[in-house]
Amino acid sequence: MSDTRNLFNRVWDNHVVRELASGQSQIFIGQHLIHEVTSPQAFQMLRDRGLKVMYPERTLATVDHIIPTEIQSRPFADGLAEEMMTAIEKNCDEFGITLLDLNDDRQGVVHIVGPELGVTQPGMTIACGDSHTSTHGAFGSIAMGIGTSQVAAVLASQTLPMSRPKVRRVEVNGELGPGVYAKDVVLYIIRKLGVQGGVGYAYEFAGTVFDAMTMEERMTVCNMSIEGGARCGYINPDQTTVDYIRGRPFAPQGAAFEKAAEYWLSLASGPDAQYDDVVVYDAADIEPTVTWGINPGQSVGVSEEIGSVDSFPEQEQAGVREALTFMELEEHQPIKGLKIDVAFVGSCTNGRISDLREAARVAEGHKVADHVRALIVPGSQQVRKQAEEEGLDKIFEEAGFQWRAAGCSMCLAMNPDKLSGRELCASSSNRNFKGRQGSPTGRTLLMSPAMVAAAAIAGEVVDVREVAAPVGV
Ligand code: SF4
Repeated sequence: MSDTRNLFNRVWDNHVVRELASGQSQIFIGQHLIHEVTSPQAFQMLRDRGLKVMYPERTLATVDHIIPTEIQSRPFADGLAEEMMTAIEKNCDEFGITLLDLNDDRQGVVHIVGPELGVTQPGMTIACGDSHTSTHGAFGSIAMGIGTSQVAAVLASQTLPMSRPKVRRVEVNGELGPGVYAKDVVLYIIRKLGVQGGVGYAYEFAGTVFDAMTMEERMTVCNMSIEGGARCGYINPDQTTVDYIRGRPFAPQGAAFEKAAEYWLSLASGPDAQYDDVVVYDAADIEPTVTWGINPGQSVGVSEEIGSVDSFPEQEQAGVREALTFMELEEHQPIKGLKIDVAFVGSCTNGRISDLREAARVAEGHKVADHVRALIVPGSQQVRKQAEEEGLDKIFEEAGFQWRAAGCSMCLAMNPDKLSGRELCASSSNRNFKGRQGSPTGRTLLMSPAMVAAAAIAGEVVDVREVAAPVGV
């Protein structure tokens, strides 16, 4: 009988340790990624109970959330940040875990460095105390964000009790137009399915659009699965996946790599794979997309107006009113022409080298508008180094952008990079919740890095297709 399981269920079945009386499964976690914010209490829980880390070699630590991207000398000016930094150094030392600290040129945002180093591989189960762990699903792994007590459970047992989600295949077929990027695709999907639409599901992204994407673009899509409510998102491994991983330091090498690659490709959902739900979209319907509200589902194509409140389903209308008030926007207002104060290119969604290249291509030969503060924050030290080798830093600096060190920066502003007051920020990050970028009243417009660069130069939201000659995906 043919195996009609999709990739998710194959990988899940491979990692079940046992079925629990609760109805959940105890799942083995192949790779645990930790960072300085959600790990200190977890290590303390281990100490309190006299436990060790079960597989230190399956745990990798980096520092990202609290890292200043301008002045990195120690002790950090922020006492709490310094405390977290000291704690992860002490914990990794005591429990035998590899830490990518600021002196390590492999340091960076946890969801950038895992793939970059070849730690993230198809068929794995991956957990990390950060919501955007779903990024790693781009490789055909089951990758999930977890809370602090679950971090402690994984450290102590390398397993988690979990309920198997349903699987929805989200197909996008056709060809993306110029200036339409992976970020626009995922914002479009979230707009269509809603921020709660994925609750109880894992999303399999499939179709010709994802087949044609690079791994970096696939990571951008999977990164935001969680913003659509999905437990995780993934893309079936293919030759693009194998080629990306080949030669990376933590990947298998030589004959072991060829054997692993064969296994990885065998996990992909076949033509007979079964799903709990399937939705299909046409790439031609997607244009550069901008959020106007306070969740990532509240977005429009850049040529569109914000709808009227009553054009939304009744259950969403109160949220739409709240968003319009907070954002100081009106029904039927075009998104284009909205004046911005800050521009941010970075984060685990769009802080990779391809993102910086696209932003630089738009910025080259132009100047950031006088009233705009613009930051470029590479997702890792390796991305920063690569960008400098390509001269992107010079392009940005000549245009008036600030060129920073690697970290989460203004994605969530647990570091000195913050909005102040009512500032409006064009941002390549993943969340536009109230207060997300450090000011309780600060406002965020999510968009692709090329669109952020274009907005920085124009001083307002513009259609990147009209101001540059975008390459597109
Ligand atoms: S860049 Fe943002 S979403 Fe990504 S790990 Fe850092 S804080 Fe989390």
